[in-house]
Amino acid sequence: MTRNIVGCPVGGVDPEELCDASPLVMECHRMLIANREVYNLPRKWKICITGCKVWCPYPEINDIGMTAAVGRVNGASEIGFNVRVGGGLSTLPHFARKLNAFVRWNEVPLVVKTITEIFRDADVLRENRERARMKFLFTHFGWTEEKFEQELERRLGFRLLPAAPEEVPTDTFRDHVGVHPQKQSGYFYVGMSILAGRITGDQMLAVADLAERYGDGTIRTTNTQNMVLLNVPERNLETLRRELNRIGLLTDASPFRRGAIACTGKQFCKLSLTETKNVTMEIVAHLQTAIPEFDTDIKIHVTGCPNSCGQHWIADIGLQGGMAKLNGKPVEAYDFYVGGGTGKHATFTRRLKYKAPLPQVKFAVERLCRAYLAHRQEGESFHAFCQRHSDEELVAFLQGDTPTEELVPIPAEVVNPLHGQRQAQQLIPE
Ligand code: SF4
Repeated sequence: MTRNIVGCPVGGVDPEELCDASPLVMECHRMLIANREVYNLPRKWKICITGCKVWCPYPEINDIGMTAAVGRVNGASEIGFNVRVGGGLSTLPHFARKLNAFVRWNEVPLVVKTITEIFRDADVLRENRERARMKFLFTHFGWTEEKFEQELERRLGFRLLPAAPEEVPTDTFRDHVGVHPQKQSGYFYVGMSILAGRITGDQMLAVADLAERYGDGTIRTTNTQNMVLLNVPERNLETLRRELNRIGLLTDASPFRRGAIACTGKQFCKLSLTETKNVTMEIVAHLQTAIPEFDTDIKIHVTGCPNSCGQHWIADIGLQGGMAKLNGKPVEAYDFYVGGGTGKHATFTRRLKYKAPLPQVKFAVERLCRAYLAHRQEGESFHAFCQRHSDEELVAFLQGDTPTEELVPIPAEVVNPLHGQRQAQQLIPE
């Protein structure tokens, strides 16, 4: 089933964008949603198309990721799209493979539909639900980028141009938070940080009211659990910022708050092993108070089971929730993953041999952040700091001089039988 196709929330107003790809997002959405030809796909199907320079919808972890680039067509420069396929996280993370293909604007819907048909017709992906995403063509069924390109061009009936040069983003944050000038002179867009993506009904009503009073009523949601108000005249900026801050939606948030992501967790997700939203809020509140001087972009992602909806694989610090026994009693506990990134620093996190019971998690994160401040090199990012240090060194930072708690993990399928069912499906012979 095709999920909502995602694009850039500031498409059409961002002065830095290569193009506004929103019309293509809408066209592909209309083409695929409720279309009988591609209704019965092996599994979920995620697509992003963006013209923004920071790649905010994360093409690296979508099934199809299209990013704007400037190619050469018949000797002239033309804006089109480079293509990646087969990205995804879950329990087996995989960065999308970049095809050697440049897709012209008018070809995008056809190419998206044809790639979708390759997915639909890949019968090997229907044999085991746990291997039913496009990434498994590459990881388990021997497909390469070249094979994919050949199959795509065979179905299209024409050769695609070679991929265009691109500037792979280096930003840690891709959130569009803060006040930014638009390409429309005199107007600004205002991105606000919504901690852990949790917003109340009263806050929503207030945002709608503020958007109408100080902008033109346009509100867009982002891929990092935030919101952006568009078309705000300069004269309204200060009042709008003040009002947003008053209702707890900050335009100038700390790095901890900006970089915090939490999956749905126990409150609403049937697969969860732990709560996540309040945990994230507590960690951020603690870090803001304990280390207000922290001055580096950092992504802390919290996920309530191994499925990684909170994207712990691409965080600087990823926390995966589970249950464990401490002194014979079951407690919520978190495994620590570090050193993930996207764009130019695309790396999945490394799982450290370190697990902490929930009350200790915020202190362990604090110790690691303090170690970064104390031992970083000139201009070194948190990501680079984690790459420079061994697992043992990072565990030592997390642990500090606190005594080790003897935690005995409780398997996910024991905590939540739904995980057992998923494992059983995984054992179906191919
Ligand atoms: S990661 Fe697990 S707990 Fe969190 S939303 Fe996804 S399935 Fe639910």
